[in-house]
Amino acid sequence: MVADAWGRRPNDMSAPTILVVEDEDNLLQALKYNLEKEGYSVLAAGDGESGLQLATEAKPNLVILDIMLPKLDGLEVCRLLRRESVVPILMLTARAEEIDRVVGLEVGADDYVTKPFSMRELRARVKALLRRSRLAPEAITAPAGQVLRAGDLEVNLVGHTASLGGGALELKPREFDLLALLVDNKGRAFTRDQIIARIWGDDFMGDTRTVDVHIRWLREKIETDPGSPKRIITIRGLGYRFEG
Ligand code: CA
Repeated sequence: MVADAWGRRPNDMSAPTILVVEDEDNLLQALKYNLEKEGYSVLAAGDGESGLQLATEAKPNLVILDIMLPKLDGLEVCRLLRRESVVPILMLTARAEEIDRVVGLEVGADDYVTKPFSMRELRARVKALLRRSRLAPEAITAPAGQVLRAGDLEVNLVGHTASLGGGALELKPREFDLLALLVDNKGRAFTRDQIIARIWGDDFMGDTRTVDVHIRWLREKIETDPGSPKRIITIRGLGYRFEG
């Protein structure tokens, strides 16, 4: 039995619970209605403080979090929530320039949708995130227990840890999955779309910039000179390849 994002070991197959934190009541009600129609249990909070409290008490399977919120903004809620759980977090952003921060190390959300969005798009993202959190390393083909190695870089698929030259690397869940995929397929080129399908799921509807952003963060952690990478190579017009 695999522990969930809060360290619980689920013993039933009840409907996933989704916490929606949004202060615009019309949008909150629309989200609640649409998610309940899909069979999810929905909890709602109208400000950041009560959202954070509800998240830690009710331990939902996924959190939908608006950025602009009264009392505590969504970025801060996400940051605090990340200290205690890897629960999937989908941020609602109003501005494209927030995206880098939102899915970045700084905040640690898993995905985002930009307002205005369609309920169809939102449902697809929710489904993909829940599937990913349940079937975590589906992208990784190496047998369980294996430690992937590339020079002094080690990726431990069981412990979900990675190290470089013996020193532990601090990786976000998606960074770990991406590194494991690349190292497991040394020398093989991946397009951005292939990476998205393997790491974020087929129904991810964001743009391929998400891949580039994650590659950039990985390079900052594993390359001697991130500006002139020797491990994760860019293949112009195609995508990326890991050099062993
Ligand atoms: Ca808002």
